[in-house]
Amino acid sequence: MNTPPKNLPTSGHCTLVGAGPGDPELLTLKALKAIQSATVLFVDDLVSNEIVAFAPPTARIVYVGKRGGCKSTPQEFIEKLMVMAVREGETVVRLKGGDPFIFGRGGEEVEHLQAAGIAVTVINGITAGLAAVTSLGVPLTHRQHAHGVVFVTGHAKPGAAGTDWRLLAATAHSARLTLVIYMGVSGAGRIQQELLTGLPASTPVAVIQNASLPTQRHIGTTLGLLADAIEQAGLASPSIIVVGDVMAGVALAAAHPQAARAA
Ligand code: SAH
Repeated sequence: MNTPPKNLPTSGHCTLVGAGPGDPELLTLKALKAIQSATVLFVDDLVSNEIVAFAPPTARIVYVGKRGGCKSTPQEFIEKLMVMAVREGETVVRLKGGDPFIFGRGGEEVEHLQAAGIAVTVINGITAGLAAVTSLGVPLTHRQHAHGVVFVTGHAKPGAAGTDWRLLAATAHSARLTLVIYMGVSGAGRIQQELLTGLPASTPVAVIQNASLPTQRHIGTTLGLLADAIEQAGLASPSIIVVGDVMAGVALAAAHPQAARAA
């Protein structure tokens, strides 16, 4: 194999493609074109099969998530495989759920590829938080209820300090921000307790699982009842937790279905 020495520029190319939240119709045209012209695809867990099916039949598909019951592939190994494939002259697509640059470590992949002298293009996808909220017919911002949005992870890098939920709660309360929490269901109890230091227990919350997919489910509740409500409904990953007044209608519909229908 004719592999150029490490760190020398190569003629190969890699595209990081956002596959959106799951529904294939939410792909961008650019994403579709990139998938259709790939010769090798490295595919994340949360990318639906219908989207992978847009790849040419001759393309090599490499699943690097937890599919098949395996532990997910270590990040460094994925990056190494991508570099090797580009150097072998492949048209490499890295297919990531949602948007490549909202969590999911897209930034680290770009840095690694660029350090290896590989040109990278990034194609946006619709991030899960956006799709989840919109699927309920609710806006993330609203002139009366929310002046901004925070996308935040509920799952910090192991050993890292993690999100300052108390500061975030106080800021969200005073600045009227909607909180969109990714990877938060397994730590919902802890997040709830921390957020309650700065936000009222009555703050409306929605939890949406499998947004945009036929299996989508959601609950409406309040911050004070969040962890119990998740447990009762049996919601699990992948889910988005949305905290803020824009969710008032969803929380009300859950608490008083009759009243919400009449409203
Ligand atoms: N880059 C992705 C996020 C990757 S982190 C994006 O922009 O959407 C993975 C987390 O995203 C999951 O734990 C979950 O919180 C969220 N997520 C991804 N797909 C989802 C879906 N269809 N419905 C609800 N949450 C989803």
